[in-house]
Amino acid sequence: MSDLTDAFPAIDSTYSASSKESGNETGHIYLAAPRGYCAGVDRAVDVVEKALDLYGAPVYVRKEIVHNKYVVESLTKRGAVFVQETDEVPEGARVVFSAHGVSPQVRDGAEGRRLATIDATCPLVTKVHREAVRFAKEDYDIILVGHQGHEEVEGTFGEAPSHIQVVGTPDEVANVEVRDPDRVVWISQTTLSVDETRETVDRLRQRFPNLIDPPSDDICYATQNRQVAVKTIAPKVDVMVVVGSANSSNSVRLVEVALEAGAGAAYRVDKAEELQEAWFEGAKTVGLTSGASVPEILVRDVIEWLQPRGFPTVDVVRTETETITFALPRNLRTELEANGLVDARPHAPRKAGPDHTS
Ligand code: SF4
Repeated sequence: MSDLTDAFPAIDSTYSASSKESGNETGHIYLAAPRGYCAGVDRAVDVVEKALDLYGAPVYVRKEIVHNKYVVESLTKRGAVFVQETDEVPEGARVVFSAHGVSPQVRDGAEGRRLATIDATCPLVTKVHREAVRFAKEDYDIILVGHQGHEEVEGTFGEAPSHIQVVGTPDEVANVEVRDPDRVVWISQTTLSVDETRETVDRLRQRFPNLIDPPSDDICYATQNRQVAVKTIAPKVDVMVVVGSANSSNSVRLVEVALEAGAGAAYRVDKAEELQEAWFEGAKTVGLTSGASVPEILVRDVIEWLQPRGFPTVDVVRTETETITFALPRNLRTELEANGLVDARPHAPRKAGPDHTS
C-alpha cells in the first residue's frame, strides 16, 4: 500500500471527531470538501502503479503523470522514469502518457519508435480533444480558452492546429481574428477558473454574437467542485492554504478564487514544510484545500502543522459528494487480467481518498 493511495483512514470523519473533542475556542480550520484527488488523477496514478506491478521497473512516463511533486517523487522511487519527450525512451520500451493528454504528433512519434504505450489521459480531456477534431472537420474557427504552454492545451491544440487559436485571458479576445464571425466555436482547458472563463466567453460573444458553445462544460466537474468549496469557505477565513504544486493549473486557480471570494490572504504550498508562521499571526480562521493532483497525506501534514500553532479544531465543509470513477485503459486492464492481477475492472475508487470517505 503506498501513500499515494489508500494508506490513510477516513480523514474527514477523523478530523470532525477531533474537532468535537477539543472544545477549544481558539483558532479554527475549515477543511474544504471536495478537495484533492479527482477521478482522472486517481486513475493516472493507478495506471503507473499497476504498470510497475505488472511489468516491473523501469516504466517510462512522458511528462509528469500529474502535476504534483510528491506524486512524481514517490513514483520515481518505485521505478517510474519521467521524460520530457518520447525520443528519450529507449526504442521498443513502454511509455505512459500523462493525465493531461498528448497531441497526435506525440502518438505518431511513439509509434515511430515502436514504443508500447499506455494512455492515462483523463477521459474528460479526451472529450475536449474529440470536440476539437469534430469542429475542425466541420471547418469552424475554434477558440481554445486556456493557458499557452500548458501540456493539456498543447495536446488539444495539436488535434487541429490549423483551426485553433488559444486565448488565455479576457483581454486577449481583442486579438482574435477569424475567417467567418458566424462560424466560431469555443472550447476550453479543463482546469480553468469558472468565473474568468465566463468573462472571456462573454467578451468573445460580444465580438461574435453567433458564437457556438461546446456541447457540455469543458471545465471538469472536479475543478468546478473544488472552486465552489473554496468560495463557500473563503469569506469566513483570515488565511486560505491551498496544497498543490506551482505547475498545477487547478491549484493555482484555487488561490485566485479564494482571494476573489474574500479570503484575507491565500497561499499555495507543495507541503507543510513551506508554511510560514508569520502568515498566521493574528489569524483566527484558516481555510484549507488541495488541488486535484494532491494526495491526502499532504493535507494531513498541514493540519498537523497548524494544530499546535493555535488552530486545534477542524470543521469539514462539504459542498458536494463525488462518486465519479474511470476505468483503467483497456490495454492495461487486459494485461492485468491475463496476469491474474485483478481489481482491474471496474476500477475501484480509493477507499480513503479525499472524496471517498463517507
Ligand atoms: S482535473 Fe478534471 S480533467 Fe483533470 S484529471 Fe482531474 S477530472 Fe480529469
